[in-house]
Amino acid sequence: MKPFAFARPGDVAEAVREVAAEPNAVFLAGGTNLVDHLRLGVARPELVVDVRTLTSREITDLDDGGLRLGAASTNSEVAADRRVWERYPVLAQALLAGATGQLRNMATTGGNPLQRTRCPYFQDVTTPCNKREPGTGCSAVGGYVRYHAILGTPGALPDPTAPETCIATHPSDMAVALAALDARVHTIGPAGVRTIPFVDLHRLPGDDPSRDTVLEHGELITAIDLPPLPEGTRSAYRKVRDRASYAFALVSVAAVVDDGDVRIALGGVAHKPWRASRAEEILRGGPLTEHAVRAAMDAELAAAQPQPGVESGNGFKIPLVARTVAATLRGLTEEQP
Ligand SMILES: Cc1cc2nc3c(=O)[nH]c(=O)nc-3n(C[C@H](O)[C@H](O)[C@H](O)COP(=O)(O)OP(=O)(O)OC[C@H]3O[C@@H](n4cnc5c(N)ncnc54)[C@H](O)[C@@H]3O)c2cc1C
Ligand code: SF4
Repeated sequence: MKPFAFARPGDVAEAVREVAAEPNAVFLAGGTNLVDHLRLGVARPELVVDVRTLTSREITDLDDGGLRLGAASTNSEVAADRRVWERYPVLAQALLAGATGQLRNMATTGGNPLQRTRCPYFQDVTTPCNKREPGTGCSAVGGYVRYHAILGTPGALPDPTAPETCIATHPSDMAVALAALDARVHTIGPAGVRTIPFVDLHRLPGDDPSRDTVLEHGELITAIDLPPLPEGTRSAYRKVRDRASYAFALVSVAAVVDDGDVRIALGGVAHKPWRASRAEEILRGGPLTEHAVRAAMDAELAAAQPQPGVESGNGFKIPLVARTVAATLRGLTEEQP
């Protein structure tokens, strides 16, 4: 591991100042992702700034009926909170589908959505990777793509030498639920405070795959708000993976349904949690019949670009996503409120 300086500032403002002043500085929360990357040499910061005790660990009721999750609240605490269970089951289910009890006891609300891709080439410092080392190329193209993207990519089999190529997926389960819930992210950074709609937090690779989110350097997440949901809203998370536990999603679905409205977010399919806006539009206001859901998902997935690669590539995700969405919505509409 490359040596680095370590700081434990007294408050959030000082933490932001310290990270902003050093271009190669990072925040540390639960450390369950960052510390692995320090060990592997994927992250090689000059300065690590511990923020774990600086932001709130509370889960508080908001005046509008929503909930505020302090950035330092742990994944276990959020999943076990009665208000989350009762009002936002999709979030509790997504959290409990992730990692293990021990990891969830450490992982935080601020750190979880900012965990980095599990693309095996990203974690292997001996291979070219535009996300880890901009401009070196993408080793995943034509390789092991089972966990890689089918939506929002530059095409099937993009140029592996191009500096903008990246077909990685975002690995967080929690983030998929937050995208479906239209959560809001509060931050403080060198330019002040701002609130970002969760669906806009993560970005597609564009011309810079090294950037996962729209956060500026030194911008710290302080809390995430869950908006109130109308009475009778139902929600659920469904994750498909290679093993029953301790495995990332091949594909996952977060769905939120109330009278006439449906929100669907997909995990394991894109560089960011993917809101299935086209499918939502088609389904809005109508009955969620098998036929309607199939037609909506056909429209959503028409733009999918499966990647060829070893073990027959990742084209299997297209029917898998459609079936997983159908099963999730069936579960919600058959369930008695
Ligand atoms: C074996 C294993 C299995 C796992 N399985 C799953 C799984 O199935 N599903 C899943 O979703 N996750 C899984 N995870 C990932 C785990 O959920 C994440 O590592 C964890 O949520 C990250 O949170 P953290 O607080 O530990 O973040 P850290 O590791 O401390 O930080 C992660 C990143 O966020 C940044 N950061 C942290 N807090 C803030 C903040 N407040 N503001 C701005 N930047 C910040 C850090 O600089 C760093 O870049 C697994 C991890 C392991 C090790
Ligand atoms: S898919 Fe992205 S993260 Fe994976 S090797 Fe290619 S550039 Fe790196």
